[in-house]
Amino acid sequence: MVPPSFVARSTVTVSARGPKASARRSARLPRSRAEARLRGPNHPMRRPGPVQFVRLMPVADAPPRPPITQDPIVFDARRIAQTREYAGRHYGFKRARLRDPKVIVIHYTASSTYSSVFNTFNRNVADVELGETPQVCSHYVIDPRGRIHQLVSLKWICRHTVGLNYTAIGIEHVGTSAKQVLGNARMMRASTRLVRWLQGRQGIVLSNVIGHNESLSSPYHAERVARLRRQTHSDFTRAQMRVYRARLTR
Ligand SMILES: [Zn+2]
Repeated sequence: MVPPSFVARSTVTVSARGPKASARRSARLPRSRAEARLRGPNHPMRRPGPVQFVRLMPVADAPPRPPITQDPIVFDARRIAQTREYAGRHYGFKRARLRDPKVIVIHYTASSTYSSVFNTFNRNVADVELGETPQVCSHYVIDPRGRIHQLVSLKWICRHTVGLNYTAIGIEHVGTSAKQVLGNARMMRASTRLVRWLQGRQGIVLSNVIGHNESLSSPYHAERVARLRRQTHSDFTRAQMRVYRARLTR
């Protein structure tokens, strides 16, 4: 479901034939083919038929942009090159750009201070869990006072969810449990405002706002490294996300 304040004003159905459609199709092919290779025959990207482009038009009461503190971590040429290599290993296409994200993943940090999260993400060494570069990161982090920090531009892929990084925006919440985050009114207000705004801006439907623990059942999940195909984390289970998603639609 698209947030009610965003209305799909026009749905343009492009026939698979015709010069315009074929130009667009060939322009998209390198990315689509690589991504489609990762998926089963029933994945939406592999289904034949016309391609639909839904144009989302902001209306007067579109979700407003919440206050966001820009707090960028180092994302230099080295980290960009490492991200490209990471995408090559895990998704089969070497690109560092986050194109047309379809999923928002909700996390908590299992730590209690914003500064410790920032310092971990900022220090670009191999991560402690999987020993890979670049370091893990998240586009946004919400601190316990309800301040939204943006650490990475939405231009770039961030490593926060195995199997989904190529298409997912990551939002971390500073806290040691989902219960703690869901029980913090200031954090939840900031979080839901941020997610509603991102949903409207990127056209991301409610069912694709998921908890990290729901990653394996996402229709967008794709992973080339066999030992990581069933890997996920315990943060934000389906039951906890039912509570979160209900608050999003309030
Ligand atoms: Zn997580």
